[in-house]
Amino acid sequence: MTEAKAQTLNVDVAIIGAGPAGLTAGYLLTKAGKTVAIIEKDETYVGGISRTVEHEGYRFDIGGHRFFSKSQQVVDLWNEILPDDFIERPRMSRIYYEGKFYSYPLRAFEALRNLGLWRSTQCMASYLWVRAFPNRNVKSFEDWTTNQFGKKLYSIFFKTYTEKVWGMPCDEMSADWAAQRIKGLSLMGAVVDGLKRSLGLNRKPNDGMQAKTLLENFRYPRKGPGMMWEAARDKIVASGKGQVIMGHALDQLASDGRGGWRMTAKGKTGMLTIKARHAISSAPMRELAKRMHPLPQSTFQANDLKYRDFLTVALMVEGEDLFPDNWIYIHDSKVKVGRVQNFRSWSPEMIPDPAMACVGLEYFCFEGDGLWSMEDADLVDLATREMQILGLLDPARVRGGAVVRQEKAYPVYDEDYAANVAAMRDELEASHPTLHMVGRNGMHRYNNQDHAMMTAMLTVENILAGRRVYDIWCVNEDAEYHEAGDEGAEASLPARESVSEDQAAALNSMRDVPTRIVADGDSDADKRRAA
Ligand SMILES: Cc1cc2nc3c(=O)[nH]c(=O)nc-3n(C[C@H](O)[C@H](O)[C@H](O)COP(=O)(O)OP(=O)(O)OC[C@H]3O[C@@H](n4cnc5c(N)ncnc54)[C@H](O)[C@@H]3O)c2cc1C
Repeated sequence: MTEAKAQTLNVDVAIIGAGPAGLTAGYLLTKAGKTVAIIEKDETYVGGISRTVEHEGYRFDIGGHRFFSKSQQVVDLWNEILPDDFIERPRMSRIYYEGKFYSYPLRAFEALRNLGLWRSTQCMASYLWVRAFPNRNVKSFEDWTTNQFGKKLYSIFFKTYTEKVWGMPCDEMSADWAAQRIKGLSLMGAVVDGLKRSLGLNRKPNDGMQAKTLLENFRYPRKGPGMMWEAARDKIVASGKGQVIMGHALDQLASDGRGGWRMTAKGKTGMLTIKARHAISSAPMRELAKRMHPLPQSTFQANDLKYRDFLTVALMVEGEDLFPDNWIYIHDSKVKVGRVQNFRSWSPEMIPDPAMACVGLEYFCFEGDGLWSMEDADLVDLATREMQILGLLDPARVRGGAVVRQEKAYPVYDEDYAANVAAMRDELEASHPTLHMVGRNGMHRYNNQDHAMMTAMLTVENILAGRRVYDIWCVNEDAEYHEAGDEGAEASLPARESVSEDQAAALNSMRDVPTRIVADGDSDADKRRAA
């Protein structure tokens, strides 16, 4: 951490947020000789949602973070920032449903055996039924998914987990959402694929061309993702060109009337002012809109953007690991927990004592709701109780616990989000070419680190070029940038870290909707919306 040396800083670029997007931008800008000041509202950690929290020597992620990207530029940058500390880890995850484990991706014979003859027959019968008599009036997520897979498979592999993640009944979620997320997922394809895998006939090389979710190995910094972002911060500071100012939240971002910015940030030690030619924001769009001066006209729409929040309860448990998986999806509705991480499976260095294990129970919630507001000790009790209910843990072995809350973990894609994002983007692009929104909540994009980084990398190119060379909204979920002419190119679904993976786990092999993009200089809002 760097202390702000003065009450007012003059830099080339002021950056909001020291997560992957903000630190990537800061690192590349200082490397190119620009001066930067990064404000981060967290007092301790850099890395944002990709940080690694430490508690009494135990290290854990905010949801395990795999490092995978189809973008060679992102992979190269990871290697540049952290050349010696990546380890290769085997991937293992399963679904837990009614006391049984289901491999992920599904293995047909194992799934049939676990479900039993009666339930397997019900699954096939309800699938054949919807094929013969589909619902013609599809309105909800439930309608759409049931139409695709039948009621029984929907209820086992989609309903419970989706409702835990998003906090609303599937019959109230829009069918569009399901269609967009689960499009192209074929039951027959999945069954054939599962059969092949069961027979050992489906051993594709790990060539980066499979759906990301299915990769068998992944790379991981030996001390967790925070290690990457701490290294990036250290390089920025060591360059002598950058400051990372912890514990300072954006107070106001005001135009200086000359095309530049006057940013104020509030911290425990008082107010800091940063004057800069460019401003980069990885803060949530909703937050940015209400902190701008003068307020954008689109503040009203930005204020309508929604988020799902998240908390992890880490339990320190005496003895060996409770299971070999990296994580397990919990489909049971009798518990609130959605997923359980096993941190030693990510890296042995996450656990300080070989005689202990550490698991992280993940709960999806809304800021301020019952779960979010519970006392930490009560959450540790709840997590212990739920592990016992699941039969995964003897409570007598629990030696300690810690809670980490993550606000705005998931930008919500509701019916209005695209129009709300477009309204703010169009207005700010037109009126403030030196303000750049990047990253996950900064662009309201439900994507991985590599996407957040790529948007920052291209923003830096734009700043260095002095003009908009790249339209960063054309970076797709795979952190690939498509020039004009690639329109209609299909982007495979990224490892969307929870619900989609879960749905993929159910039936494997997913494709997202085709991603049409617009060329630089062709950013007419209507064309974009039509795309
Ligand atoms: C459960 C879960 C699992 C995930 N798993 C993976 C995975 O396996 N692999 C992967 O690549 N990605 C994964 N992701 C996604 C990854 O965490 C994000 O894509 C990435 O962290 C986004 O980076 P960012 O910099 O855009 O945003 P963030 O990580 O949100 O960082 C933004 C930073 O800005 C700061 N900030 C916000 N507002 C202000 C303000 N007003 N003033 C000052 N500072 C501010 C925040 O404190 C934060 O540090 C996962 C996400 C979740 C929720």
